[in-house]
Amino acid sequence: MKLVAGVDIGNSTTEVAIADFDANLKFVSSSMVKTTGIKGTTDNVAGVLLALKEACDNINITVDQLDTICINEATPVIGDVAMETITETIITESTMIGHNPETPGGLGVGTGKTVFLEELEYLHANEEVICIIPRSVDFETAAKKLNEAFKRNIEITGAVVQADDGVIISNRIDKKIPIVDEVAYIDKVPMGMLAAVEVAAPGKTIKVLSNPYGLATVFKLLPEETKHIIPIARALIGNRSAVVIRTPEGDVKERVIPAGKLILMGTKQNKIGIEQGSSAIMDSLSEVWPLQDVTGEPGTNVGGMIERVRQVMGELTGQNIEEIKIQDILAVDTFIPQKVQGGLAGEFALENAVALAAMVKTSKLPMETIAKKLQGETGVKVLIGGVEANMAVLGALTTPGTDKPLVILDIGGGSTDSAYINKDESVKSIHHAGAGEMVTMLIKSELGLEDYNLAEDIKKHPLAKVESLFNIRYEDGSVCFFQQPLDASLFARNIIVKSDEMIPIPTRHAIEKIKMVRREAKRKVFVTNVIRALKDVAPNKDLRSIDFVVLVGGSALDFEIPEIISDELSHYGVVCGSGNIRGNQGPRNAVATGLVISYYNSLRGI
Ligand code: ADP
Ligand code: MG
Repeated sequence: MKLVAGVDIGNSTTEVAIADFDANLKFVSSSMVKTTGIKGTTDNVAGVLLALKEACDNINITVDQLDTICINEATPVIGDVAMETITETIITESTMIGHNPETPGGLGVGTGKTVFLEELEYLHANEEVICIIPRSVDFETAAKKLNEAFKRNIEITGAVVQADDGVIISNRIDKKIPIVDEVAYIDKVPMGMLAAVEVAAPGKTIKVLSNPYGLATVFKLLPEETKHIIPIARALIGNRSAVVIRTPEGDVKERVIPAGKLILMGTKQNKIGIEQGSSAIMDSLSEVWPLQDVTGEPGTNVGGMIERVRQVMGELTGQNIEEIKIQDILAVDTFIPQKVQGGLAGEFALENAVALAAMVKTSKLPMETIAKKLQGETGVKVLIGGVEANMAVLGALTTPGTDKPLVILDIGGGSTDSAYINKDESVKSIHHAGAGEMVTMLIKSELGLEDYNLAEDIKKHPLAKVESLFNIRYEDGSVCFFQQPLDASLFARNIIVKSDEMIPIPTRHAIEKIKMVRREAKRKVFVTNVIRALKDVAPNKDLRSIDFVVLVGGSALDFEIPEIISDELSHYGVVCGSGNIRGNQGPRNAVATGLVISYYNSLRGI
C-alpha cells in the first residue's frame, strides 16, 4: 500500500482525501474538520492533524503510515463583510404599526380617517372612519359606543385599541370590523388622517397592506409614492394584522444618511455614494474592472468601514495596512430593523442598508512554513501541490456525467471561486468576494437576531411550526408526526429542524417572513456572484458558450442554493448542478481529491 493524502485548507473547512497509489489510485478515506486559525498560517496545522487522524482512523492506520501528504497552494484570498445603514426613519410617508398583536379582533380591511371613540357621536353618516380606543375606556363601553354609531349609520370600518381587548370588543359589536389592539402609544396616533387596518383570519396572513399595490390602492398613491412604501409593505409580510396611517408629507420621513463615497480604482477611478445602493455600486465596479484597490472617502462611514476591513486583514495576515489591496467587493442591499423614534407600538422600521463583502489578495501565503511544521509533526513527506483552482477542477471532473469544457463554482464561506477548463486543459480562474458568510450576516441582521450561530442554522435547515406536541408542519406544508410527545417548550413555536435537534426561533417573525429573508439573502449573494463569475471565465464573456457548471464547496451543500442558481442559469441554457466528487462525496472534497490525482498523474508523467 502506498497511501497519499491530499489536504485542502480552506477559510472555513479543512478536508482530506486518501488514495492508495498501488491500487491504481483507489480512494480509501476522506474527512473534514473546521479550519483552525486563519487560512495560510501555521495555526492551520492543528486542524490538518485532526483531519488526517480522522481519515487514517477510518482505515485503521496511523498518520505516520502515510507515504506522502500534498497540501494546496492555498489561494491567498480572504474575505470580510461589513454593513452600513443608509436610511433613518424619523418620519415616513406613512406611519406604520408593524407590530403583531397576539389576538386582534374581527376580520378584513378597513380604511378611513382616524377619529377618537368620543368623537363618534358628533359625526355624520357620510365618511368612513377608523376608531381609536384608548385604554381609559373599558371594552363594554367601547362596544356600546360603536354599536350606537353603527345604528346611526356611521361607517366605522376598523378600530385601533390600546389595551388587549380586540377580541372581546369584536364579540360585542353588531358589525364585523378589523380591530388591531395592543397599540401602546395610542396617544401618538395622528388624528384626522387616512388610515388602513387589516386583520386576517386566524392562521392566515394579511394580503393588502403587505402588498405595495394594495397600499397604493388604499391610499391612492402615485407610482413615485408607491416606491417609497415598499419597505413598509415588506415589514408587514407574514403579519396577521397591521395598521398603516398616512400622514401629510413631512410628518414622518425617511432620511437618507450621507454615508460617504467608495472610491473604486481599476482601469480608471470611480467614486460612488454608498447610499445609491448596490446596483449602482456594482455597475460602477464593472466600469473599472479589473479592480486594483478600494478606499472610502476619509471621515465618512464608508471610509471607516473600508479601513476597518483593511486593518483586520492586515492583522490577520501580518502585513502592513498599506500593502493590503482590496481586489473585489460585492455590495448587496439589505434592511436592518431599527426602533422607530416616536413609534406607536414600539415598532421597528426596516432601514435600508448596504452590506459589503470585500476580498483581499495577500502576498503569497507562507505554505512552506506550514508544510515544514506538518512534516515535523507527522514524520511524513509533505509536498505543496498545484494551484487551488486547478485542483478543484481535477476533483470536480470526478463527478459522474461531467466533461470538459466545464466551469466549476467553488462556493465557500468568504469567496466564490470559479474556474473554466477548456477542451485543451487550460484553466482560467477568478475569485469574487461574498459567499456563505455574507448570507449568514444578511439573515442575522434582517431578522434582528443576536446570535450568529442561530442565523447559520436558519440558513442551513428548513423551518417548521410545532402544531401540536405530536406533529410539526414544515414550511412547504408537509406534516410530520411523532410517537413520543415533543418537548412542551416547543409548542406553537417556529423551529429549525436539524437532523437530531429542534431549535426554537426566539422571534415573533412568521415562518413566511423568515423563509423570504433566507431565500432572498441567498439569491442576492449567489445569483449576483455566479453571473459575475461566469461572465469573467466564459470565453468572450458569453454565458451561452458554457455547457456544464458544477457547484462545489460548503455552500453547494445548501438545501436550496443549487436550485436557486440552476433556475437562474436555465435562462442561459446552462446545465448546472451540485458536484458529486468521486461519485460519493457530494460537493465536498474537490480540492483534496484533485491534489491526490494531480500528484498521481505527475508520478506517471502525465
Ligand atoms: P472554505 O473552502 O472557504 O473552507 P467551505 O467550502 O467549507 O469554505 O464552505 C463554508 C461555507 O459553507 C460556510 O458559509 C457554511 O455556512 C456553508 N455551509 C456548510 N454546510 C452547509 C449546508 N449544509 N448548507 C448551507 N451552507 C453550508
Ligand atoms: Mg474551499
